[in-house]
Amino acid sequence: MDFIDDALVEYVEKYTQEEPSLLQKINRETYAKVLTPRMLAGHLQGRVLSMLSNMIQPDSVLEIGTYTGYSAICLAEGLTPDGVLHTIDINEELEEVVRGYFKEAGIEKQVRYVIGNAIDIIPKIKGSFDLVFIDADKGNYANYFDMVIGRVSQGGFIIADNVLWSGKVLDDPQTMDEDSRALLEFSKKIQADQRVENVLFPIRDGIMVMRKL
Ligand code: SAH
Ligand code: CA
Repeated sequence: MDFIDDALVEYVEKYTQEEPSLLQKINRETYAKVLTPRMLAGHLQGRVLSMLSNMIQPDSVLEIGTYTGYSAICLAEGLTPDGVLHTIDINEELEEVVRGYFKEAGIEKQVRYVIGNAIDIIPKIKGSFDLVFIDADKGNYANYFDMVIGRVSQGGFIIADNVLWSGKVLDDPQTMDEDSRALLEFSKKIQADQRVENVLFPIRDGIMVMRKL
């Protein structure tokens, strides 16, 4: 399901800050060389993440699901000068190229890029987070939320991507696939959780933005 008309997407991108040239390159190279390139955030969502991060001005960011580094570079745009972004991915095959992109972005000193299963890595990262971006295996969204909520600073944010899952969250609950069900259960859980205020933005594939009270 496309949520907005292609012509409107084009218009929206036309009147949104241009995609920075390094991100254009990562976008192109991901589509040319990497499996499942649709996972990359892309122009509009990338600028949304950058804008949110610039509004929050985080000292500490946690990203779950690095992929080719596109969203990490966007989120790093709002970091304070001494701020740190932790990003985790289970896929070691992309490590070298992603480290190269972080270097090209000039953020290699601010980024802690860890290869491993997020479930194992998150407890090993010390400190609190002003912003968490959840964008890895959909079946674990609720677990990731539970693991980080106690470590998000008051007034800090958690952002979860793909919560509309191409509209499949509207499928018949009796027959919907596992990931769709997990995302539906995740949104229900967040809606009921008194520790956060939440807005589901229908941007790209759906972005749930949660503010910790
Ligand atoms: N945030 C990226 C896209 C992430 S795609 C962007 O917007 O550009 C999802 C990523 O999650 C994939 O690279 C995949 O390897 C990773 N992933 C899947 N399961 C994981 C797990 N258990 N722990 C850490 N990373 C995982
Ligand atoms: Ca995503």
